[in-house]
Amino acid sequence: MDKLKGRHTPLRRALWVVSLYLLAGWIWITFSDYLAEQWFPDPEALSRVQTYKGILFVLATALVLFLALMRQLGSDRTMLSLHHHQREEIRNLNQFRESVIERANVWINVLDPMGRVVLWNKAAEEISGYRRDEVLGSDEIWPWLYPDDDERARIRARAEEILRDEGEVVGYETRIITRDGSRRLISWNSRSLRNDDGEIVGSIAIGQDITDIREAETTIRQRERQLSTLMDNLPGMAYRCRYDEHWTMLFVSSGCRELTGYEPDDLVNNKRVSFAELISDDGEESNLRTVESAIGNAEPYSLEYAIVRKDGQCIWVWERGRAVEDNGDLVLEGIILDISDRKALEVELSELATRDPLTGLFNRREMARLLDEEIVRAKRYGRALSLLWIDFDHFKHINDDYGHAAGDSVLKATSGLLADSVRSVDVIGRFGGEEFVILLPEMNRSEASETAERLRGLISDTPQPLGDGRTVPLTISIGVSVFPDNGADASALCAAADKAMYQAKSNGRNQVVLAPLVEQAHNS
Ligand code: GH3
Ligand code: MG
Ligand code: MG
Repeated sequence: MDKLKGRHTPLRRALWVVSLYLLAGWIWITFSDYLAEQWFPDPEALSRVQTYKGILFVLATALVLFLALMRQLGSDRTMLSLHHHQREEIRNLNQFRESVIERANVWINVLDPMGRVVLWNKAAEEISGYRRDEVLGSDEIWPWLYPDDDERARIRARAEEILRDEGEVVGYETRIITRDGSRRLISWNSRSLRNDDGEIVGSIAIGQDITDIREAETTIRQRERQLSTLMDNLPGMAYRCRYDEHWTMLFVSSGCRELTGYEPDDLVNNKRVSFAELISDDGEESNLRTVESAIGNAEPYSLEYAIVRKDGQCIWVWERGRAVEDNGDLVLEGIILDISDRKALEVELSELATRDPLTGLFNRREMARLLDEEIVRAKRYGRALSLLWIDFDHFKHINDDYGHAAGDSVLKATSGLLADSVRSVDVIGRFGGEEFVILLPEMNRSEASETAERLRGLISDTPQPLGDGRTVPLTISIGVSVFPDNGADASALCAAADKAMYQAKSNGRNQVVLAPLVEQAHNS
């Protein structure tokens, strides 16, 4: 109704203006004629006045017409330019909408209430493989995309729900068959479309091809499953930890239980105990240094250290890991294995390599190494070092009289007694047969001579066990050499001590002989 009223307004207004004009004209003519006749009775003068009056009226109406036209034409021009501008804007807006829809990298289609395609954008063409001209205006696309009847019926039912405006659909996934026969997984967001009167005129659907994303997700999930199976079956503990003073664990595999005795939850985020607390004191410092330099060189690191388990047991572990960036933070990832068995074997092997099996003392090779070490130390710090060369007297007789086993028993007991009778810093070893060497660090000639004399006295005063309850008296002869007086290296020192020991033998055994000082050696 408003529109109708609006359309008739100009006509009515025009009729009004014309009526007013006629009325004003009629009043003016009647009234002015009456006044003119009153004021100008002379007919000639009256005729002139009538002419002037007519001219005046025409001029006045011309002026009014001129002003009215000016105004109307001016407003028409403004209106015209305004319309032009609006039309331009609307065109731009439509173009904008079309190009957004066209260029969107998501599938956009609009269906009419019959399920026929009304709009089909470029992405829809690309994903489905069906061109716009093949699908527009028909609903043939349905069996093409969904050849399976049941599936198609289910999806169409869903689309019809939207057309009945029973809510919008978000993230509804369907599997389409594209023109080239491949399967793609599409996630749909869809809702109904209404016109200005609020009537539903179709539905719009926006589809995203999530085939690749879903495949990647599945692959990641599979990898995660494989990894966690792998981690749970690892012989040790896999970890991910912060590079901080606590080695704060962010993740530990279930191997944590067997390795440390703690539950993974106890260790993660230092809930009950930090990993740093488990590491034995001497391991901490060197671990830190190794990890630091590995990070500096962008290399993986390997560590070997002892940890104390929850039950108090100390075990040796081997660790290998590397630093990785995680959201700008530096974290360490790696694996820790229990190497206690290997470590025990190593200790055993190194003892086998350095110890004499019968007496448990250092063997000849290890003694030679230790002697070199002691000489270096004595040289560096300017300290004294003495060496005792010991040989049992007439040991052959013991073997001959009581048997080889009894001899072994005497060897073990005597060497044990000697080892127990020296300081803990002294080093004693079996050089071979029944010859023993004792290194006496920081002992000078007279101190070494006293020690040798004490040992000789001790042995000669202590009958040695034969292993069958009986004992046998035994004496020893000792040669003493001193660093650096009798030699500046191992072989010179040994030779001097050995020579002194032979001197003791020839002097009658059971005695101590000091290697002569260089001066005396020259004199003799
Ligand atoms: P001397 O006073 O001159 O040293 O006389 P000795 O009989 O001790 O002679 P020597 O030192 O030359 O001989 C060492 C003997 O020690 C020879 C060997 O029968 C014996 N012997 C060496 N090693 C062992 C061993 O491992 N077990 C036993 N039971 N006897 C050994
Ligand atoms: Mg001997
Ligand atoms: Mg001998």
